Amino acid sequence: MSEITTSATSGPDAPAVRERARLSFDLDVDICVVGAGIAGLTVALEAARLGASVAVLEGRTIGWNASGHQLGTVMPGYGVPLGDLIARIGFEDARELWALSKEGAEYVRATATEELIPGIAPSDGVLEVSNVDAGDQLISRLQMLGEDFETEVEGWQVDRVRAELKTDHYFHGVYYPKAFQIDGRKYVHGLAALARKAGARIFEDTPVVSIDSSGIRKRIVTPSARLRASHIVLAGNIHLGATLPRLSETLLPIWRYAAVTAPLGARLAETMTFQGSVSDSDGVDHFRIVDGDRLMWASPETTWAARPERFAPAIARRIRTIFPKLGPVEISETWGGAVGLTVHGMPQIGQLRRGLWVSSGFGRQGLNTSAMAGLLIARSILWGDERWRLFSPFELVWAGGPTGRVAGHVIGMWARGSSAAAGALARYRERVRTQERVREARLAEANRQAGTRPPRPRPQPGRPRPQRPQAPAPADRSEGEGSS
Ligand SMILES: Cc1cc2nc3c(=O)[nH]c(=O)nc-3n(C[C@H](O)[C@H](O)[C@H](O)COP(=O)(O)OP(=O)(O)OC[C@H]3O[C@@H](n4cnc5c(N)ncnc54)[C@H](O)[C@@H]3O)c2cc1C
Repeated sequence: MSEITTSATSGPDAPAVRERARLSFDLDVDICVVGAGIAGLTVALEAARLGASVAVLEGRTIGWNASGHQLGTVMPGYGVPLGDLIARIGFEDARELWALSKEGAEYVRATATEELIPGIAPSDGVLEVSNVDAGDQLISRLQMLGEDFETEVEGWQVDRVRAELKTDHYFHGVYYPKAFQIDGRKYVHGLAALARKAGARIFEDTPVVSIDSSGIRKRIVTPSARLRASHIVLAGNIHLGATLPRLSETLLPIWRYAAVTAPLGARLAETMTFQGSVSDSDGVDHFRIVDGDRLMWASPETTWAARPERFAPAIARRIRTIFPKLGPVEISETWGGAVGLTVHGMPQIGQLRRGLWVSSGFGRQGLNTSAMAGLLIARSILWGDERWRLFSPFELVWAGGPTGRVAGHVIGMWARGSSAAAGALARYRERVRTQERVREARLAEANRQAGTRPPRPRPQPGRPRPQRPQAPAPADRSEGEGSS
């Protein structure tokens, strides 16, 4: 039944060599989970803790895709802006969904401890920075997050952001002191170990090839064995494929690539003092310091699978664009994984038909959301918790098949391009304002030395003349008139 093989993930932290079990005999369980990413493993762990017999079937290896290649940033919320969520489902339901997303983050915090997962290295604080100068919107955003959605946040003005990140690329920031980061690669293997300890059985190299979910006892077929289960949880992300093609077609696959630099020494400390994760408000760049003096950075995306090494130069260039003072950086490792995006941007959580569950579509923010989904589904199956119904407004919508991929690619390129253009425009405006301030200061100084005051601006032809003040001071009037 088992074989010895190398570990699931590539990379320095992957467990060296361990036993990998493949299912080769028929089995009867309460719950069969398809997929051993963070979504499937959380359901398995929670259901096993609640006393169910659980089998996880994984087509390749634990954490083989996105779950073993993420950056480990854990925040409240979803992949869609809060304003859009409120517009779609109303304030009260949005508040409940937000509270669930916080519960998911707290679940990860409680699970990702050094006692439960050695080497997981949790640390606090995530900063979301803005590419554009929209400081005027900061206060209302902070009020909404803090007061209405009970989330601890701090608003950072531009100076504070730039004191911590020495780049003029970003403007204001929203700091989440209770958000945190962990070693993302260790997390998925830690979850698997905890699930096994709780009694779940995990079978790798065991792809599910077909499912018959019509009866009370559902049938699951793999190449060398059959399973019967009362409940099936589909947590296969974009790779579910032919098993349930209509479900797979509701996800737009996006491959996201990341890298870690070689040690950068003191120059990194001179460039960035912030120790938590940083992500920009457009979801383009996401980075943090690791191992004291290396940068871990995720940015490029494609709608097709490509070799991650190809993106090393692009990531190095991106780092230089954001932090020019850092100079050239050497990339020492690259990786990538595919995330599944839904048309509405919210995850797919719920019961498709009696006993057939889906936990998928977590997009770029999968840690808190998949944890929450695991909790909701396990508790619904075993305790009758019905809160997953809050996700009912977000139906399964066809993502457009191959045409959708092309459209997704074009929209992605456009969104990144327009985000870059908006950022460039904001920085241009800022430069012009700074130059204008310098010019005014010089003029004021020249006038002071010459004993004069600056001239009033001439009225523009075709523009209405500004109203004269009601009772102008004599000196003002004479100077203004004299200069026009
Ligand atoms: C570079 C990168 C950085 C990221 N950083 C973050 C971050 O910092 N914070 C955050 O919250 N999120 C992050 N994410 C997103 C996060 O990784 C994903 O949302 C999450 O891992 C999705 O988990 P999953 O279990 O749904 O999918 P997956 O990890 O894809 O797992 C699904 C599993 O199901 C298996 N499977 C599919 N079909 C079958 C079948 N028929 N039979 C058997 N097995 C099957 C697959 O082999 C796979 O192992 C990042 C993603 C990437 C790529």
